[in-house]
Amino acid sequence: MITAIANQKGGVAKTTSTIALGGLLSEGNSCLLIDLDPQGNLTTGVGITLADDQPTVYDVLTKRAHVKEVIVSTSFGFSVLPANEILAQAEKDLANHDDRFLLLRDILKSLRSTFDHILIDCPPSMGLLTANALCAANTLVIPVQCQFFAVKGLEGLLKTIDTVKKRLNPHLQVLGVLPTMAEPNTLMTQDVLKTLRSELNGIRVFNPVPKSVKFPESNYAGAPINRYANEWRLVQPYRDVARELMILQEG
Ligand code: ADP
Ligand code: MG
Repeated sequence: MITAIANQKGGVAKTTSTIALGGLLSEGNSCLLIDLDPQGNLTTGVGITLADDQPTVYDVLTKRAHVKEVIVSTSFGFSVLPANEILAQAEKDLANHDDRFLLLRDILKSLRSTFDHILIDCPPSMGLLTANALCAANTLVIPVQCQFFAVKGLEGLLKTIDTVKKRLNPHLQVLGVLPTMAEPNTLMTQDVLKTLRSELNGIRVFNPVPKSVKFPESNYAGAPINRYANEWRLVQPYRDVARELMILQEG
């Protein structure tokens, strides 16, 4: 199972959700988290400090290193393919490569028997890196922040997904939209949830993840939410998503 966590908007909890799902899936499965954002927030958000000369996902994409040499293990059960700011160069370096959209897909083929689940944390843009994630993935989780205008950006994303499906990766399925940073007592959250549920024909809308300072705290502490604060209210929405991923993987 290869799952992309994508939304071209920044700050919607892609990285936090990838780490949360990784923490939960690792309870019973082998799991790899791929940091595909030059900001490297996933890498630092699980407590990894990279040495100056340590290879990253950039070296794998540009064939300077083999993926198995670059993977880092963590104390949370999952492994990580780390990134740092050098990854920003990949868009330029790979622009003229014939198979530029399929590089990650081909790299991950060698890991099929190693991991039950691979989660890809996408950057907040629709460039080459996100395209590689969408071409490598079987399924897609779209975190959406419970904010006005959040729903608007989704249309463009869904169109891109349709194009990828038609041209590059017919296997790609949207697992669902995950509303994040929900404040259930506010009109704004209620409005966003209502709009998502009524306007996304045929796309599952998961139970919302509530807004809580425990999430930024967990990022700062470098731990998934179920390890940092195992509160039912915070973890259960992620457990719903993890369960669907496990069902797909077992089927
Ligand atoms: P993205 O990867 O989409 O840019 P992040 O996962 O980095 O988003 O999240 C953006 C910010 O929001 C981070 O500071 C993160 O700690 C915080 N955050 C994520 N989820 C929640 C939540 N449920 N409640 C409050 N803050 C959150
Ligand atoms: Mg991020």
